[in-house]
This record gives sequence, structure tokens and C-alpha cells, in this order.
Amino acid sequence: MEFVDLRKQYQHLKTEIDAAIQEVLQHGKYIMGPEVGLLESQLAAYVGVKHCITCSNGTDALLMPLMAWGITKGDAVFTTAFSFFATAEVISLLGATPVFVDIEPDTFLLSPQSLEEQIKRILREGILKPRAVIPVDLFGLPADYEAISKIAVKYDLMILEDSAQGFGGVFQGKKAGCFGTAGTTSFFPAKPLGCYGDGGAIFTDNDALAALLKSIRVHGHGEDKYDNVRIGLNARLDTLQAAILLPKLKAFREYELEQRNRIASIYSDELAGYVQCPAIPEGRGSSWAQYTIRLESQEQRDFMKDRLSKASIPAMIYYAKPLHLQTAYLELGYRPGDLPEAEKASNTVLSLPMHPYMLHSEISTVAESVRQSIRDDSAAAL
Ligand SMILES: *Cc1c(COP(=O)(O)O)cnc(C)c1O
Repeated sequence: MEFVDLRKQYQHLKTEIDAAIQEVLQHGKYIMGPEVGLLESQLAAYVGVKHCITCSNGTDALLMPLMAWGITKGDAVFTTAFSFFATAEVISLLGATPVFVDIEPDTFLLSPQSLEEQIKRILREGILKPRAVIPVDLFGLPADYEAISKIAVKYDLMILEDSAQGFGGVFQGKKAGCFGTAGTTSFFPAKPLGCYGDGGAIFTDNDALAALLKSIRVHGHGEDKYDNVRIGLNARLDTLQAAILLPKLKAFREYELEQRNRIASIYSDELAGYVQCPAIPEGRGSSWAQYTIRLESQEQRDFMKDRLSKASIPAMIYYAKPLHLQTAYLELGYRPGDLPEAEKASNTVLSLPMHPYMLHSEISTVAESVRQSIRDDSAAAL
């Protein structure tokens, strides 16, 4: 069994994907070919925003809006302590300081209350200037943008929505990617919408920001490629990746997202009463980048991961170490206990195999192993 079975997806979409790749080989426009613009207009329409700017990966997608806003040394950018390293890394790359925020214990998402506490602390200290917040749509579920937006308005912060895992998620009828001044996603192969290499995209309604991002994407160009008006990057999405994404986006829209939700609900039915299943608050929908359960203790979690592994079931720990305790951030001076919910999550979460082509029998096999592990763990405790 695979954690994310990309080969199975390819078998389903082979005819369309092979044809799309052949088409690019025929026209030969490998950089910014026609598929890139076509994909951008389809993605913008799906997310419900005016502009989509595709780019090299989900990390650059986060970096580019921060560059456009001139985030730099002396600036504080608030983000969740429970995410992939890239979310914070981009802040540090620009010389700004990530300020880590604790999470909600039921959804693992950035806690608005902790956000406001951290903003107040930074203002009290008077050293850093609060500039932006990066909420993460972790495991596919959009953060609480109603509460976060209120705080952002109150303290004049930009919102950069990290929806690397959230593409296809929903909050109050709107699609993930549209909630910040800018929103981003990643097309890393294992994400809900992935390509066959690295890729990413930025979404925004802001015309001026979209123009800036297009310039930053190609070495800060002005009138043309050899007129450079600012410092930028080489951060384009390959035409081949755009061509691969077009049929994948179609499948995602037509049935894959629905299928992900069906699999998640079978898991939740089968596991209810044994483990803490993912909580989906009223008015929200997940794209199930991960189906992540929570155990009672680190021992119980590690016991289960080992049990599943012995049964050839891959399970992953996202994330075993919260960002504020990463070695790279030692100098920021955080200590264990500073962000207790993020730390507790790191010790007790486990993500189970999840992809739209899982069979019912495979889900049942995983679920039975999880239940058996709980039974054996409680028997051992007696
Ligand atoms: C994957 C991921 C990224 C980075 O995306 P890449 O395409 O791998 O650069 C950023 N943030 C989160 C939350 C992610 O899961």
C-alpha cells in the first residue's frame, strides 16, 4: 500500500497526460508556453480570484508576496508553529523574524487567540514591527479566516494564506487560496493537486500585486526581460508541468476531491470511538491533504506507527517537531513549553494513507490495524 499512490492516478489519467506532454514536445515552447496561461486562468476561476500567478514551487509562492510587500529586517511575521518548515523559512530568508503562534487543539490550525497574544507581546517589546500573518490551511482544512481577518484589520497586518495543502478546501462557501491579500498553493506531487516535479501558484484579487509578482517571477523585469527594475527570482512554472496539471485539475474538479471526502468519511466511521478523528468545523470543507488522527500519548502513537509499519501500512508523522523548536531557530530562544498545543500535537498525531484512488478494502485494512493497535496498547497497559 502507498501513502499517496501517484502511479494509480497516472494509470487513470494516462491518455490525457501523455497527450498533453506530447503536445508540449510538438510546439516546443518549454518556458511560459500556452499551457501556463491556460492553467492560470482555470485556477483563478476555480479559486474565485482575479489573478493566478503560477511559479516554481510552493515555497517561492510564499516568498514572492513577502518580497512584493518589502518584508525585511526588523519586521515580525506571525505564523503557526505547526507546519512545514517552508512556511517560516521564507520569512527568515528576507531577514524578517518569524513569530510563532500556537494552534487550536481540535483542528491543529493557527489559534486566533494566540495570534493576538503574540502581536500584543511584540508591540509591548517594541523591537519588531508587526507586518503580516501567514495562516496555514493544514492537512487541507482552511484556517479560521473570519477571526484572523478581524485581527489583521485591527493591527494592520497583511494576510498571506499558505494553502500548499489546502487547494480545494472551503470556508463559508469560498475556496481556499482566496482568503489573504494573497494566497498560495504547491503542486509538489503528493499535494492534493500535484504535478510531476515542483510547482506552485499565487492567488490574488489585487491588480498591482499581480503585476509585481509577474515581475518578481522573472528577474524583476520591467518593459521586457532585459529591462530589470527590481530584484527578483527565476521562479517560473515549466510549461510541461502546466500541461500535466491541466488534466489533473479536471480530474480534481470532477471527482478526485469528492473521492477524498468519501474516503475521509469512511475512515471517520470506522475509527470513531477508537482515536480522535479530524474535526471539520461548521461551514468548512477539507481537501484532505492528510487524514490525521490523534492519539492519547506519544507512546500510544509510536506503538501504532510501528504496528502499522509491520503490517506494511505507511503512516507518517506531520510534524514531529514544531517550528519554534527546530535547530535552525535555536537563536530565537524558544523553549519547550512555550507553545504547548503545537508541542502536544507533534507528539500525538499520525497521518494515515490518503489518496483519491484508495479502495474501500484498503481503507478497512488500515482502520482494522488502527483499532487492533488501540486494543493491544490498552491490553498492555493493564
Ligand atoms: C509543501 C508545503 C510548502 C512548500 O511547498 P513546496 O512546493 O514543496 O515548496 C509550504 N507550506 C506548506 C504548509 C506545505 O505543506
